Parts: sequence; C-alpha cells; structure tokens
Amino acid sequence: MTKILAITNQKGGVGKTTTSVNLAASLAASGKRVLLADLDPQGNATMGSGTNKQTVKVTIYHVLLGDAGIEEARVSNPQGKYDLIPANRDLAGAEVEMVNFPQREARLKLALESIQDDYDYVLIDCPPALNLLTLNGLCAAHAVMIPMQCEYYALEGLSDLVNTIKRVRSNFNPTLRIEGLLRTMFDPRNILAQQVSDQLQQHFGDKVYRTVIPRTVRLAEAPGFGLPVLYHDGQSKGAQAYLDLAKEILSA
Ligand code: ATP
Ligand code: MG
Repeated sequence: MTKILAITNQKGGVGKTTTSVNLAASLAASGKRVLLADLDPQGNATMGSGTNKQTVKVTIYHVLLGDAGIEEARVSNPQGKYDLIPANRDLAGAEVEMVNFPQREARLKLALESIQDDYDYVLIDCPPALNLLTLNGLCAAHAVMIPMQCEYYALEGLSDLVNTIKRVRSNFNPTLRIEGLLRTMFDPRNILAQQVSDQLQQHFGDKVYRTVIPRTVRLAEAPGFGLPVLYHDGQSKGAQAYLDLAKEILSA
C-alpha cells in the first residue's frame, strides 16, 4: 500500500526540503517507487531535484486549481530515480484563489488519488507555515514527519504543530499520525543541542527517529547541483545518514 508522508514544520529552515529530497532519493535507491510533491512556493525541492522552477510549465499550482491533471505536472527525475510534482512562486497565489472552492483543504488529496498507486511512497514537502497549503499536505497524508533542529525554541514550536495535527485529525483526517521526529543539522559538540535532544526523547520516546542527520557541507551544497547528496557525494556522512533514515523507515 502507498504511504503518504507530509514533511512539515511551520518553522523555517529546519531541513524539510533537504529531508524531502534526500529521503526520496534514498528510498528510491532502496528500490521503492517514490513521488515527491513540492508544496512550497519557494520551489526548493523542485530545484534540488534538478527541475528548473522558472521554466517548468505545469506545476502543483495548476493541479490544485483544477487547471491541469496531476499526470500533466509529473516530471520524472532520472538522476534521483524518483518522480516530482514541481512548484514555483505561482503557488503563492493558490491560497487566495482556492478560498471559495468546495473542500479546499482536500484538493491535493483528491488529485493524488489518480496516481498514488504508482508509488510505494509519496513525500510532500510543506512550506514553513500553518496555512492552507500545509493543510492540504496534512489532509492528503497518512502520517507526518517533523524535521527539527535541536535548539532553544524548537520544543515550543513543536507544541503548536502537535496542536495543529490534533485539529486536523478531529476535523479532516481522523487517522493522521505523527510518523516521527527527525533531528537535523545536528552537532554533537553543541551542549544545548544535546540537552534539547534529550528532552525530545523524554517527551516523544520512540517517535524520535534513531537516525540523526548531522550538519554537513555536502548536504548544503548538493541542491546547487540539482542533486540529492547521494549522487553528489555518495560517500559523505550526509548521504549515509539519509540512507540510514530510509532503512529505519523501511524496517519499521
Ligand atoms: P524552508 O522552511 O525555508 O522551506 P526547510 O525547512 O525546507 O526551509 P532546508 O531548505 O532543507 O530547510 O534547509 C535550510 C538550509 O540549511 C538550506 O540552506 C540547506 O541546504 C541547509 N541544510 C539543511 N540540512 C542541512 C544539514 N544537515 N547540514 C548542513 N546544512 C543543511
Ligand atoms: Mg523548504
């Protein structure tokens, strides 16, 4: 059965896109059929997957508005071995344009229905906001993956997100679960990061992935080549970490 995962955190710059792109490539490298849907007007997952967001014609924006079928937006990404639904800044207007649509929170879920059987995993890269786009991601998903940096305000932001997930569960998507919390950009020499990581494990127990993503230059530079780190430097620590995460998810 297809598993649809929303990769979300309303906090900006915590590693959502890096996780989306590199987990997509790592699951694909394990032989899984993977679709990555870019749900962020910044289009970072699109660029990071080697698709030019400036020149791409049909995007998730057209799909959400009902102006194109999702098959028309789908791009195959042979380098990462997964498929992509691209996004660009057009998507920023979607929220306002969808306001009067019936079931405006379920547009992505309904669109995915026609192609999701082609995949073992659908990953949704959400924008850094608790807005209608993110709500579409949460309504379409079976579960949520939350990348987070272990820093002072992280836990506070997390309780907002957990409350949002609860509200989505009671109003729209009763079976939505938290799949896991992923510690990103981790620096073990940083004492505060260690403390926050310990607190996270106390509060969330085995919801915290054992795999920790280290802060590494290779992960930061790979998007500049339009490549997952696995195909930029397969021997790097970052590539290994995302392969480990894929393994952890597949063995769960
Ligand atoms: P936004 O909220 O803007 O969508 P995001 O949560 O998707 O951001 P990313 O874009 O994945 O976060 O990461 C933010 C920045 O940190 C990027 O420049 C990225 O290359 C860098 N980065 C992400 N993960 C790592 C890592 N493990 N090591 C080093 N740099 C990283
Ligand atoms: Mg992002």
